[in-house]
Amino acid sequence: MYPRHIIEQVLNATDIVKLVSTYCELKPTGSDRYVSLCPFHTEKTPSFTVSKSRQIYYCFGCGKGGDAISFLKDIQNISFMDALEILADEAGIHLPKTSYSSKERSPEQNDKKTLFQIVELSVEFYRNQLTKSLNGKIAQEYLRKRNISPEIQEEFRLGFAPADGYSLYRFLKSKGFSERLLLRSGLIRSGGEEGRYYDFFRNRILFPIRNIEGKVISFGGREITGEGPKYINLPETEIYQKNKVLYGLWEGKETIRSYENVILVEGYIDVLRCFQSGIRNVVATCGTALTAGQANLMKRFAPKVIIVYDGDEAGLSASIRATSILLQAGLTVSAVTLPDGKDPDDFLQSNPVSEWEKRISSASTFFTFYLQQKQNLLSTPQGKITVLSELFRLISIMEENSIKEEFLKEIASALRISFWAVKSDYEQYLKNNYSLRSQTNNSHTESVPIDDIDFLHGLINDEQIKKRTKQLFQEIPMPATPLGVAMKYILENKDPDPRFMEECEGKKLLQKVLLSEPVNNDLKTLAMERLNRFHIEYINQQIGFIQQQIQEAEKRQQKERLMELLSNQKELITKRSQLSGVQIKNKR
Ligand SMILES: [Zn+2]
Repeated sequence: MYPRHIIEQVLNATDIVKLVSTYCELKPTGSDRYVSLCPFHTEKTPSFTVSKSRQIYYCFGCGKGGDAISFLKDIQNISFMDALEILADEAGIHLPKTSYSSKERSPEQNDKKTLFQIVELSVEFYRNQLTKSLNGKIAQEYLRKRNISPEIQEEFRLGFAPADGYSLYRFLKSKGFSERLLLRSGLIRSGGEEGRYYDFFRNRILFPIRNIEGKVISFGGREITGEGPKYINLPETEIYQKNKVLYGLWEGKETIRSYENVILVEGYIDVLRCFQSGIRNVVATCGTALTAGQANLMKRFAPKVIIVYDGDEAGLSASIRATSILLQAGLTVSAVTLPDGKDPDDFLQSNPVSEWEKRISSASTFFTFYLQQKQNLLSTPQGKITVLSELFRLISIMEENSIKEEFLKEIASALRISFWAVKSDYEQYLKNNYSLRSQTNNSHTESVPIDDIDFLHGLINDEQIKKRTKQLFQEIPMPATPLGVAMKYILENKDPDPRFMEECEGKKLLQKVLLSEPVNNDLKTLAMERLNRFHIEYINQQIGFIQQQIQEAEKRQQKERLMELLSNQKELITKRSQLSGVQIKNKR
């Protein structure tokens, strides 16, 4: 351990307010105090407090407290010595060599440090490949075509992985790293009969992903030759948990703080385009669906998120999923749609920035946005029910009742029905949803019937089945079950690779399918029957929903509403018997 006076010297030279600000949004209260949402536990109102004069912090929610060294130690999950060394380094204080320093660091922490070095050297290697090597010409040409400026390439440290598949390995080996650590970095893999080592990325443009301290911890890679999946990401490592990272957050966090909002886009290139256009409050998930961890991360810097996803059907359903997660984290959500199905990259290349600003500043709440998107469904009673169920689900996630009422009012006025009618529908929805929820929670991969496994086989391998499935789920919502999650992933990915999928039951199911052989011979007939059954299951659910509303209307003696509901129900029952007919015919 270093002597007490050295530690004091480091603490005196460090400003805890500045240090904590790297990780969260500190707001002054009074002359000496600052508060923030706690970075160590999830909370809705700030109870994490920092004193500038005392140079300490304390969280009234979880009880964590300490000084600059303990803060850095806990937030980075490193040892006391490492935290001290980092702070000393930043303050320009030279620490005397002690025999303790390396002893007190566990081998694990030494490994972590080495992993950061490996990744950093790889960034430089790939950057050189892009800018200085002959191999990089093709990548440079690609970036030039996509109009990504050299300045932005430099700021985001874009690189290029050559096609040969071993040059990074050779380079890192020449720097003296052990195979054990190279493998753990994820950048190098081993395999084949001779157990040879090779690079994870080949022939791809690389987007280094920085953590909140600005250190590169991973990469996303985009293919440029039309081979393999469009984007792949490094698997998670000891220094990279995708749940805790957002692309562009480190680069944009000052702007995000000052604007008090953050724009969420889908892709790496979207982020680059925004930055190139001078829009710096933009982040993207790194090639995965948004997670709760990422939502909490955003919340530490701004209370409001504006979603700008692609203007197609997939973009819309991704934005619904993201909204659920953001609302759950207690963030305010609004959304913007770009014309003609454009993504932010297309839009900003063909429109002035002022046009973008106009759309962002007039972004509507997610609820209004969704109603506008689903306008065409609102003309039929059944469509209305579908749209309302989705919105009710989102509202049910929120915690504050006063805000819920606001949104119910917004929906009522958009649909031109009375607030009380919407409210009673909502209450009905809550009652029904309890049973729905327990159904989905009970479904495990183990219990998925063999026919459903075979259905997924068909979906992966048969274009016609794929097409029919797509059609059906444009009409009705995808079930929120592992089967639904797996189907969605298969539909969205040409070559569905479960390694790149979020941890969930759906991922386990897909792995199971990919490791098995189909049992049924006629997958086509099986698939068509299954699709039909999905449709019938959905209608049954809707009929149940209406039945509850009928009872309510009877109780309140609302004759007109009752008539409307009965006729809706009849329509659904007719539709159901038509579908059942088809099913029987197929079976013969
Ligand atoms: Zn706390």
